[in-house]
Order: sequence, then C-alpha cells, then structure tokens
Amino acid sequence: MELFIKYPMALQLTRAHLEAIADHGARDYPSECCGVLLGNDTGLLKQVRELAAIRNLRQDQALAEELLPLAQPELESERNRFLMDPGELRRIEAEGRRRGLDIIGYYHSHPDHSAQPSEYDREHAWPWVSYVIMKIEAGRAGDYASWVLAEDRSRFESEPIDVVDVQAAPESA
Ligand SMILES: [Zn+2]
Repeated sequence: MELFIKYPMALQLTRAHLEAIADHGARDYPSECCGVLLGNDTGLLKQVRELAAIRNLRQDQALAEELLPLAQPELESERNRFLMDPGELRRIEAEGRRRGLDIIGYYHSHPDHSAQPSEYDREHAWPWVSYVIMKIEAGRAGDYASWVLAEDRSRFESEPIDVVDVQAAPESA
C-alpha cells in the first residue's frame, strides 16, 4: 500500500455559486463572461468562498488589443475569448488577502460552445488554479466543468467538482 497516494483535488462550490456563474454568463451572452474564484486551498480541497465578476476586456477591442493582441482577429472576439482586467484582478486579490481568501481559480463562459477548454485557454492558463467553464447555450446555462493545467502545461486535466448546498465553516489554522 502506497503511503502517499495522490488524490485528485476537488473543487467545492455551492449551488448559489453555480447559479451566480450561470446568471453572469446569461447576462453577458453572447460574449464570454469571466470572474475569479476566491477561497481556500486546504491541500485536499479547494473551497470556493466567494466569486468576483470581472469585466471581459475583449468587449473593448482597442484596449484589449493593446494588452494582449489576438493572433487571428478575424476569428477571435469577445464571443470566444476573454481577457480579465489586470487592474481589477490585482484589486480583487488584495481585498481577498485581507480577508484570508486566495485566488484559487477563475471561471468563464463558453457561449454556444462546450465546457471543454480551448487551445487558447490552455496557452493562457496558470498552473495549480482551477478553471471553471460553463457552457451558455442560446443564453441559458448548460454543462459546466472544472479544469487544472497539467504540470507540463501540455493539457488540461478534469477536476472533480463537489457541489454543496451549504459549506462547512473554514478550518481554523
Ligand atoms: Zn474558454
């Protein structure tokens, strides 16, 4: 029997969190919506405590092109790409830290597209954190999944999601 078994980490979300992602995705449809998952990573479980919606800067094409130009602008837009406002991201991270919450992941929607990460998603992903993707089909929430980048960055691995009605109180350190 192995002493150190590597269990797949799970991402724990409440139903209310999923509903908030669905609402955000529906509101921004047919653009992709995006946001941050704030919470705690215990080493066995990533517990989402709060969501923070972030504006998809791709909706402002001129500004987005300055920050991160698209490789194929004729095929790419806010409908299939998202870019989080870096200033907003820093503010959310700092405010979270003050309350003992870390950025443990990100979420975004795929308007009329499956909850599988795109090649673009992989190229722009950071390791360790969770990427929740929700399909928004004709403006309504569809399937969702969570993904973590493999250590060699070659692919995304699917991450189990634990959906709960109410979360246990945070563990005291
Ligand atoms: Zn995507």
